[in-house]
Amino acid sequence: MKIHFKFKNLHSCEAVVLACIDFRFWKETMKFVEEELGIKSYDFPKLPGAAKSINDCLSEVDIAMKCIGVPCDLHHVKKIVIVNHADCGAYGGSVQFKGDDEAEQKFHEGELRKAKEKIIAQYPGKEVILAYAKLVDGGEFVEFLRVD
Ligand SMILES: [Zn+2]
Repeated sequence: MKIHFKFKNLHSCEAVVLACIDFRFWKETMKFVEEELGIKSYDFPKLPGAAKSINDCLSEVDIAMKCIGVPCDLHHVKKIVIVNHADCGAYGGSVQFKGDDEAEQKFHEGELRKAKEKIIAQYPGKEVILAYAKLVDGGEFVEFLRVD
């Protein structure tokens, strides 16, 4: 299989997008990033729980921080996007919240903000965009919500 390589002699991209490994969300996350955020070139590391992997880091040499650091240092990204999602197994899934979608969302917003602070401390001057992928309409749709 031979595919045209779009990035010949290119070593910079716009953003790094850290998402969860969950197969149910990453393609939809790409759609959100490209169509809603308008970001076309990005590193796309995926680790269980997304923000959780950052919050669990004990130092900047931990793999999750490297997933942010390498894009910043080598690919000169200006934006860092972190996407958490509903029913995330890394956090114990939706059952942890006993069907309280509001509580689950609030929890993930807290996790995302915590990760943002940790990243800003390490990489000041970057724009950090937080989003939560919420399951809506009885689980028929994924809605990406920006978190301030
Ligand atoms: Zn997950």
